[in-house]
Amino acid sequence: MNTERKKHLPYFAVLDCLTEQSICFLCALELEGLQKYFDNLLYERVNDVATRASLARSKGFCNRHSAFILKYGASLGTAILYRQQSSLLDELLDNLSSVSTALLKLPQIASWRNHKACPACKNQLDDRKRYSEIFLDALKNSDSDMINAFEKSAPICVPHFLDLLDQIKRNRNLERYLVDIEQKKIRELIADLDEFIRKHDYQYADESFGREQDCCQRAVRIIAGYEGLF
Ligand SMILES: [Zn+2]
Ligand SMILES: [Zn+2]
Repeated sequence: MNTERKKHLPYFAVLDCLTEQSICFLCALELEGLQKYFDNLLYERVNDVATRASLARSKGFCNRHSAFILKYGASLGTAILYRQQSSLLDELLDNLSSVSTALLKLPQIASWRNHKACPACKNQLDDRKRYSEIFLDALKNSDSDMINAFEKSAPICVPHFLDLLDQIKRNRNLERYLVDIEQKKIRELIADLDEFIRKHDYQYADESFGREQDCCQRAVRIIAGYEGLF
């Protein structure tokens, strides 16, 4: 890899995702970031002191990120992590057996119900912030590579799109530009859905599917964001 590219790795990560991915580029980048995070965690850091401390504080992962762990199938790493979690739960139950349930609001007990500090959520939000800033800065600086890649890319999913708009509320031109491009892409999606539905009519049963063949997955992921990310 040349040094120039290495120096601006996150910039090129954004550009590559815009060019190559058929889903929202921020969804793609966050998925990739979570993949790396769990690879590293489950294969290299299950016994790491800082990792254990942070998971003890957060009481494990939130429901969404727990689903990522199960998808991984790294059973030994998962067993080691959850051996620790199960011991913490065992201690909690020990304590609960000797105190009144009125104490359920105590912070050490409430933290089992509240996963705001899930370390994977933090990792994902850091990625979101970093990549959104790189993308918006490039557009503000009229970076032609970024603009070209963005205009040809898949639509941005609704949750990420609204998040981007939140970040640029004082730049009316940029806001309007993003809305215009998104609208153009959404109209193409609508045309694909119409075409998909039309071809399911028995009168057109002999017509084969074209670019509209995966429009259902695209539509679902644009409206709600990629599954498991929000
Ligand atoms: Zn997205
Ligand atoms: Zn989480």
